Amino acid sequence: MLTNDQLDKWDRESFFHPSTHLAQHARGESPNRIVTGGSGVYIEDRDGNRLLDGFAGLYCVNVGYGRPEIAEAIAAQAKELAYYHAYVGHGTEASITLAQMVTDRAPAGMSKVYFGLGGSDANETNIKLVWYYNNILGRPEKKKIISRWRGYHGSGLVTGSLTGLELFHKKFDLPLDRILHTTAPVYYRRENLASSEAEFVAECVADLEALIEREGADTIAAFIGEPALGTGGLVPPPAGYWPAIQAVLDKHDILMIADEVVTGFGRLGSMFGSDHYGIRPDFITIAKGLTSAYAPLSGSIVSDRVWKVLEQGTDEFGAIGHGWTYSAHPIGAAAGVANLKLIDSLGLVENAGSVGAYLKQALTDAVGDHPNVGEVRGEGLLCAVEFVADKTDRTYFDPAQKVGGRIVGKLLEEGVIGRAMPQGDILGLAPPLCLTRAEADKIVAATQTALKTVAAEL
Ligand code: PMP
Repeated sequence: MLTNDQLDKWDRESFFHPSTHLAQHARGESPNRIVTGGSGVYIEDRDGNRLLDGFAGLYCVNVGYGRPEIAEAIAAQAKELAYYHAYVGHGTEASITLAQMVTDRAPAGMSKVYFGLGGSDANETNIKLVWYYNNILGRPEKKKIISRWRGYHGSGLVTGSLTGLELFHKKFDLPLDRILHTTAPVYYRRENLASSEAEFVAECVADLEALIEREGADTIAAFIGEPALGTGGLVPPPAGYWPAIQAVLDKHDILMIADEVVTGFGRLGSMFGSDHYGIRPDFITIAKGLTSAYAPLSGSIVSDRVWKVLEQGTDEFGAIGHGWTYSAHPIGAAAGVANLKLIDSLGLVENAGSVGAYLKQALTDAVGDHPNVGEVRGEGLLCAVEFVADKTDRTYFDPAQKVGGRIVGKLLEEGVIGRAMPQGDILGLAPPLCLTRAEADKIVAATQTALKTVAAEL
C-alpha cells in the first residue's frame, strides 16, 4: 500500500481538484483527507478518523455508505455486460427497468426519462430540449431561461450560467446570453424586516412579473428552480411561493424545470419536492439520490406535453441530435435499480421526514435562542443554521471573520462533517436519509459545542 506521504506528494503534483483553492492546496495549506471507507452515516479516513457525515458526501449518499445490495448489483452488471450504448433504441434490462421505476415514482404527467451522468449534464439536456421544443412549435424567439439568484444548477457553460452564485460566473465570462436571474425566495434575507411571509412572496412574484414584462413573455422559454434552495443556503421556500410562481409561468406559457438533483428521492420527506410543494413541472432534473452516488447517473424526466412536441420534431426533422456515449450506462442503471429498491424497503422517504423534523426541533431547542443564531430552518433532512452577529436587528458577521467556516471546522473536531454554505455564515446539514435519532443527537451536541467555542472566540 502507498504511504500517506507518497499519496500526498502525488496529489499536490498531479490532481486538479474541483472547487478547491488551487494555490493554497498546492502549497499544502488545505486539508488532504484520503477517505478509505464508509458504513451507514460514517466515513473513515487513512488517519484513522471515523466521522459522522452530516452532508452525505455532497448530499448524495442518500442510502448511506457500504450497502452490499448496491455493490453486488454493480458487480453483477459489470460481469454480465459492463457497457452497451442506448442510441437508436438500444437498452439493457437495468436501464429499461430503472426508467419504469423512475416514472412510476415521478409526479403525474411525467412519463419519459432521459439518462445522463450528472446533474450538470441533465440540466444541459433540459435547456437544449426547451429550445428544441420552441423551435418545433415555431417560436424561435422564445428562448430565454429565468433562474434565481442563489440557485445551483451545475457548473457547465449553460448550467454554470443558470447557477446564481457569483463565484461560478466570475472570470469565466458567465452568465451566457439568454440566461436571466430573479429574486431568491429567502425570507430571512428580505430587505424589509416588517414584511410578512405572504408580502415577501408577493414581492418575489412582482419581481418575476417585472422581469418577464421587461424582456417580453414571447422571449421567455422556461423557469428553473430547486424546490428548496440547496447550495445557495439550504432554504425551504416561504409558504405559498410555488403556487404563486407557477401561476405566473402558466399565464405566460413558460415551461417549468424543477431541479430535483438534491430533493429527488426523499430528501424532503417526499419522493419528489415537486409533489411536496405543489409544483407542476415540465422537466425534472434528477441525479444524486437516483443511485445514492454508488455510480454516476442522472436523468431528465419529461412531461407528456413536452414529449408530444419532441415526437413531432423527430417526425419532421429526423432523430434527435442529442446523446452521450454513457447515456443510461448499465452500471449506473443497475446501481439505480438496487438503490430505489433499498429506499423503498428501508422506508427512507418516511425516515427523512420524521428524523428530519426531529433534527430541526432538537437544533432549535439546543441553539435556537443563542444570540448568534439567526435562524434554524429545514425540511426533511435538509437543515441549516444561519449565524449572525446580532439576531435582534439581523446584522451579519464580516465575511472576513469566516464564522461559518470556523464553526464547521470545530464541528469536524467533534467528529461531525457539516458544510459551510456560501451566501452567509451557514452550517448546512444534509445527512444520509437513514439517519437515526441517536445520530441526530450527536449532530446537535456537536453543533452546540462548536457554536459555543467559536462564539467565545469572537
Ligand atoms: N442541480 C443541483 C440542484 C445541484 O445541487 C447540483 C450539484 N450539487 C447540480 C445540479 C449539478 O450536479 P453535478 O455536480 O452532478 O453536475
